[in-house]
Amino acid sequence: MTPTAVPDVGTCEGCGAVLPVQDGPTHRYMASSAACWATFTGLSDPHRPLAGAAFDALIVDAYAAQHPGRPSPQTINSVAIHLMVLCGVLEHSFRPDQALWVRQRPGRPSRLPKHNRFHWLAPPAFTSILTVADVSRGETPARRSDLAEQWIREVWSTWAAAHRPQVENWFGRYVLSERV
Ligand SMILES: [Zn+2]
Repeated sequence: MTPTAVPDVGTCEGCGAVLPVQDGPTHRYMASSAACWATFTGLSDPHRPLAGAAFDALIVDAYAAQHPGRPSPQTINSVAIHLMVLCGVLEHSFRPDQALWVRQRPGRPSRLPKHNRFHWLAPPAFTSILTVADVSRGETPARRSDLAEQWIREVWSTWAAAHRPQVENWFGRYVLSERV
């Protein structure tokens, strides 16, 4: 008998998704397996779309927050900004379609120094919450969008349990405040 070929699987260092190993690109500073990054970019595949639900606008924020990478000026800034978007929508009644505005808001002209606004937040453990792989396995656009919203909420609540006061502080100072 010939043994059945079992594909090698690998665990994403960011979100913990277990996926068949594949070669391919990854993001410049978000730390993920190539398979996980391909799964994320696959959410934009027009042949296998999401449903166009409001929360679809936040998948990049959830992905970035679940793949924080290593401390560097870029990753510190990225994680802070994506967490502020999730905080704004899930805690402050911003609409998901305001996500771009929230992402850009900390970069507006201000008197505050641009550097060292944010600092590294030790990432929480993402064991047992949804990942992009779970979203991608949804069989229909509606199901994938439902899973995406659940994933987005779980990523935020996991981060919030560890760092809510700091993210709220940044959100108040760099997004809500008119006096910067
Ligand atoms: Zn991942």
